[in-house]
Amino acid sequence: MEKAIQELKKLKARKIFVQFGEGLKLRIQDITRQLEREGFDVVLCCEVCFGACDIREAEAEALGCDAILHVGHEKFLEKTKLPVVYWEYFLKANPCPILDKEFDKLKNYENIGLITSIQFVKTIPLIKNYLETKGKKVFVYKALQYPGQVLGCDLRAAKAIEKKVDCFLCISAGKFYALGVIFEVEKPVLCLDLERKEIYDLAELKKKIQKIKAWNRAQFNEAKRIGLLISWKKGQVKLPYDLKKRLENAGKEVYLLAMDEITPEKLEGLKLDFLIAYACPRIGVDDLERFTIPLLNVEDII
Ligand code: SF4
Repeated sequence: MEKAIQELKKLKARKIFVQFGEGLKLRIQDITRQLEREGFDVVLCCEVCFGACDIREAEAEALGCDAILHVGHEKFLEKTKLPVVYWEYFLKANPCPILDKEFDKLKNYENIGLITSIQFVKTIPLIKNYLETKGKKVFVYKALQYPGQVLGCDLRAAKAIEKKVDCFLCISAGKFYALGVIFEVEKPVLCLDLERKEIYDLAELKKKIQKIKAWNRAQFNEAKRIGLLISWKKGQVKLPYDLKKRLENAGKEVYLLAMDEITPEKLEGLKLDFLIAYACPRIGVDDLERFTIPLLNVEDII
């Protein structure tokens, strides 16, 4: 927090627009009070924020704020109109009791790749040390700011060591990050879930999602009316005009459907046979079952 406050003071910011991940909701009021004690006026953005791709400059400006504080995320965009301060917000966790209890689940793997989200990067040395003292070989790759760190849409820390490892162990609260990795690598992905306090394999879930994807893919050729789902979130803006043209040349009716958070409710009433997600690549993984219209990520179609 110190560092973020220093940065905000250096910017001479007075009114701060605070964006934060859902996981920090329980802590955000304490954070607000701390910021207010430091002399800042605080506006909490209550729109869901999944990552630092979502920089709400227009909203912050409309409310007279002179800086954005992004809590729980690291820098994603190089250029922004308003200054953005990123506060990574590391969470304390002790994975050793979970490893003690669940170690047997790693017995078939000698070479283990570690990955995690920014919140838990501090646990990587601890886990590496633990596994090495138990005779495992541990691999960690630094693709982002910290060794082993991945984003929902940046899984290079896993990809880079895939050939060296027998499995990946993803340290996280919930399976969001591990779920991203299962479609990037062929090796088994196990989640060391700090919330559930257990280690579990995502192989079954991978099979289930693959089946949905295969079924959805099979619907594409017959689909006449296609919705291209796009978002104006600053880090997700991509304009699929070329794709639209190509699909139209192939005889489809195509609609560009722009929204903030992409949810099935917003499409109710529209006549569509197929959806292509063109914004956050996690839509076509995590949200597949939420949509009644077959959906795939653009990468799965072209
Ligand atoms: S594009 Fe999606 S996965 Fe990537 S940072 Fe944004 S919300 Fe997360």
